[in-house]
Amino acid sequence: MIKLFLFDIEGTTTDINFVHKVLFPYSFNSLESYILNHQTHSVVVKVIEDVKKTVWDEEEKQLGLYDVVAKLKEWVTNDRKHPALKEIQGLIWDAGYSKGEFKGHLYPDVKPFFTKIISTKALVGIYSSGSVHAQKLIFGFSTEGDLTPMISYFFDTKVGGKREKASYEKISFETKLSPNEIHFFSDIPEELSAAKAAGMYVTQLLRDGTKASEFEGIASFYSLMD
Ligand SMILES: [Mg+2]
Repeated sequence: MIKLFLFDIEGTTTDINFVHKVLFPYSFNSLESYILNHQTHSVVVKVIEDVKKTVWDEEEKQLGLYDVVAKLKEWVTNDRKHPALKEIQGLIWDAGYSKGEFKGHLYPDVKPFFTKIISTKALVGIYSSGSVHAQKLIFGFSTEGDLTPMISYFFDTKVGGKREKASYEKISFETKLSPNEIHFFSDIPEELSAAKAAGMYVTQLLRDGTKASEFEGIASFYSLMD
């Protein structure tokens, strides 16, 4: 019996365009003013140090404050998964959501499916490459309201990469559930393949623009709610 339904975000619960056309541009455009206005805050100080260290290690260049801003913008453009970028983006998005500049996009079938899962005493979990902070913002300030009380687990790449079997084994260990009590949903076949290798049930979400694969595919969660 499935006890945990585990969801990817981008391309599964949420339109990929929301991330690439709303969140990334917002962080890109806000980086300079956010860093200049908060440059003495301890988290921002740490972010600036981490960027300087990475660039020193990789290019042996010493950066000033505006160079750090430029480097972070470059990383946004290249979608580099650097912890310092994720940290500062989390802070910038937090400010944006709080001010009501945008809401986290969720497909309309997500909330009814979560409601159904919880009504059967199973649990809802999230596993995304976005930070746990960013995940909680999407679901907390979503187009469907605050869904965070419905979600029992948030996992990010601290458990490992999404295309690695070991990450799914770690999720199984941390939730104290056997892999065959977990059902993972994603749009990416390589992620499904890793979860399946760990022993989980898997289903591919075929939202607009996603290509079908060898895995069982559904266009929306409505097909699981009859
Ligand atoms: Mg995805």
